[in-house]
Amino acid sequence: MALTRFALFNILLFCSCAASPPNFVLLFADDLGFGDLGCYGHPTSLTPNLDRLAAAGLRFTDFYCTSPVCSPSRASLLTGRYQTRSGIYPGVIYPGSIGGLPLNETTIAEVLKPLGYATAAVGKWHLGVGSNGMFLPTNQGFDQYLGIPYSHDMGPCRNLTCFPPDVKCFGLCDVAAKKKQPFFLYYPSHHTHYPQYAGPGAAGRTLRGPFGDALYEFDNTIGNLLATLEKTGVINNTLVFFTSDNGPELMRMSRGGNSGPLKCGKGTTYDGGMREPAIAFWPGTIQPGVTHEMASTLDILPTMASLAGAKLPQVILDGVDMTEILVNQGKSKRETMMFYPTDPSEMYGLFALRLGKYKAHFYTRGATHSGTTPDKDCPVFAVLKPHDPPLIFDLEADPSENYPLFLGGRPDLQALLERIKKVKEQFEATMVFGESQISKGTDPELEPCCNPQCSPKPTCCRC
Ligand code: MG
Repeated sequence: MALTRFALFNILLFCSCAASPPNFVLLFADDLGFGDLGCYGHPTSLTPNLDRLAAAGLRFTDFYCTSPVCSPSRASLLTGRYQTRSGIYPGVIYPGSIGGLPLNETTIAEVLKPLGYATAAVGKWHLGVGSNGMFLPTNQGFDQYLGIPYSHDMGPCRNLTCFPPDVKCFGLCDVAAKKKQPFFLYYPSHHTHYPQYAGPGAAGRTLRGPFGDALYEFDNTIGNLLATLEKTGVINNTLVFFTSDNGPELMRMSRGGNSGPLKCGKGTTYDGGMREPAIAFWPGTIQPGVTHEMASTLDILPTMASLAGAKLPQVILDGVDMTEILVNQGKSKRETMMFYPTDPSEMYGLFALRLGKYKAHFYTRGATHSGTTPDKDCPVFAVLKPHDPPLIFDLEADPSENYPLFLGGRPDLQALLERIKKVKEQFEATMVFGESQISKGTDPELEPCCNPQCSPKPTCCRC
């Protein structure tokens, strides 16, 4: 499902306003690892447009999502809050899930709407459908939605391109096109989630095989989008931000992604599962460079709110404003990053915590998604292991989390350990787990179906 230049042009045509708040284009890859882009060192990936954004923008080396799987990571991206607060756990949302991102959570789109922003979500949602589509993007602050409601390898209908299936999405997506409004485009691509595929413009065009071709197709779409921003004359008033929802699905072997020098991948709380490539591009406002400041998907909502002059939602936010990093290559307000597993619980609490350059693991565990790697800590056979004292790594000296620090005879590290414990205790005291939306179970009747009157569901929906 490559976006055509025509469709993007229609979505963005309304951007002919000059002295308006900045526009935002949020590009979100799927299961893309730290080592997957050309500009992050992959030798055979073909990502000329992302490389161009990185060369002319700001490239992050220490950027984190909040979960090593799709749905909870997306919930945090859109709300600026850890997924435990919104209840998007354990695991991911299924096609017939009864729950979804609660409507009382405030998304980036809802933060921007009061300022007159036009908002669109194009791509993979994966935050619920629910009864009568109650959890779809159009009920979460987005004016327009074109995409698939969950991963393209889920559910009996593998050719879902819009919801409901009989809506001619391309006929509706340009309704706001001629208005002179600032806009927020959220483009969570289905690429590069398994199974990977690509259209004629990308299939067989890279040295890397199906994963590389899928990534190249995504990159081509980004190129189309940039061309449209330039053509409509708004590129200098638009922040383009790129990152990914979680680390690579290593169980797919050469068809999965690559976490580069980082340990393990999807499903784990090692850095390979949650540390992601991230690029911020805004000609004339963001100077080219590389930042080692710690930042997160959590920070995108407060940052966009700050840049737009929007009010923050009156809830506990876990994100911080990273404008200073973007416009001055300054210091981050973020000192910590918390790592919950795919099945967070109040009983276990945090699996890991990063404080400055140090990361402490209180529990480690492998994951099915990270199978097949030679590192014995990554596959599902690496069962849950508590660590007291925690395993502590210096991520600047040892980004691969290979060599835990030996605390004996080191008063400085003992002091660090005490501080880490205190930070953990303070954070967990503020954490109120929201009702689990995913534990509400599934109802086949809620699954989008190409043949809504058929029976029995969901198998009859195969189309
Ligand atoms: Mg994902």
